[in-house]
Amino acid sequence: MPNPTYRGRFAPSPTGPLHLGSAFTALASWLLARQAGGQWLIRIEDLDPPREVAGASAAQLHALQRLGLVSDLPVLRQSQRHHRYQAALDRLLASGKAFACHCSRSDLADSGGVHRHCLAKRQRATPAIRFRVADDDVIVLHDAIQGDYRQSLAEVGGDFVLRRADGLWAYQLAVVVDDAAQGITDIVRGCDLLDSTPRQIALQRALDLPTPQYAHVPVLLGADGQKLSKSARSDGIDSGDPVDVLNRLWALLGQSAHASIGATDVQAWLAEAVAAFRPAALPHSAGIAFDSIPA
Ligand code: GLU
Repeated sequence: MPNPTYRGRFAPSPTGPLHLGSAFTALASWLLARQAGGQWLIRIEDLDPPREVAGASAAQLHALQRLGLVSDLPVLRQSQRHHRYQAALDRLLASGKAFACHCSRSDLADSGGVHRHCLAKRQRATPAIRFRVADDDVIVLHDAIQGDYRQSLAEVGGDFVLRRADGLWAYQLAVVVDDAAQGITDIVRGCDLLDSTPRQIALQRALDLPTPQYAHVPVLLGADGQKLSKSARSDGIDSGDPVDVLNRLWALLGQSAHASIGATDVQAWLAEAVAAFRPAALPHSAGIAFDSIPA
């Protein structure tokens, strides 16, 4: 049954090819959305031109499409949305929740980069804009996979950047503006972003935006114990049989113990998977070794 009240999304940054870890997150969020009868959107987070790899967003979309994961609405690109981030920033500045900051990295070196008061020794031509965090700002959230999570904003990051001194928009602001503008109700993403979530909730509150449900899935770890990165090889996502990739992801999602999927074409595979998917079987750890399931 279609459920217009559930809307999920996958929001890759175009910094390299889609690797197995990103495909794992994309499939988890797609399955949860579809099983809830909801919609699933793709958003390209292309706000950092120096880190962007030419052709990466087209390659990522192609790799997702090969797995049958296609956005229900036109793909949104953050590079087209500067005016929306500016409007949100203007609101925060007008209400005194954001402020211009001339501090440099070295000004904040003694506090490990945590900003509580401006210490700048000289004015910059274009200051950064930061979000003001109160000393007692503690954000508590319940993550559907990782459980209860609590963070003191002042202790962890302090007043955080919304727009950098070089003019680039911070991920925290853009993601909050876009998740709200796209009506996202459920955010399923990698556990490496769990510690960003309190900052995003603080921004949602300051901008009178709803807070979605969060589910942070484990990140896939390479043999070195590090998160698979987009610069690492793409592990067969772009070539070979996409159903083999889906079956491997299914096992990594903890699903193969109760159901193996017989379909050999992508659309039939996805339909079977939506019916068989058990959210409760998703691994609850922060990371899993991607080679724990043989290719
Ligand atoms: N753009 C981020 C990434 O590629 C994901 C952001 C999110 O899902 O909130 O890691």
